[in-house]
Amino acid sequence: MSQDCIFCKILRGDIPASLLYEDSDVIAFKDISPEAPTHILVIPRKHISGPAALTEEDKDLMGKLVKVGVDLAKEFGLSDGYRLVMNDGKRAGQTVFHLHMHLLGGRTMTWPPG
Ligand code: 5GP
Ligand code: ZN
Repeated sequence: MSQDCIFCKILRGDIPASLLYEDSDVIAFKDISPEAPTHILVIPRKHISGPAALTEEDKDLMGKLVKVGVDLAKEFGLSDGYRLVMNDGKRAGQTVFHLHMHLLGGRTMTWPPG
């Protein structure tokens, strides 16, 4: 846990979030500023600053994170397509330095992302 990290604050219950899923390793909640009709963030309970900070021991955790995203996509009826995204670093648009995977769906996505 990191004292100043906004997602650690959500994990501690210090700030509210619309929780959609939780287990012992991972939680998922609605993005506060949605970029698509469905915009969910899936995060590990463990504070990891981003994809580049992952270690060997996080491999199972990351598999679980992706599976939770896929299951939520199914639950939210996104069978016609959705996107799972992780940003690493400021230049890629990362603004919160607690690893998270975006699940975006409910509209047509363009490629490449901007
Ligand atoms: P990033 O830009 O780092 O890939 O994604 C961070 C995401 O976290 C953004 O989409 C932003 O809207 C979301 N976010 C930032 N602060 C909060 C918050 O306090 N609550 C929730 N639910 N989402 C947040
Ligand atoms: Zn954190």
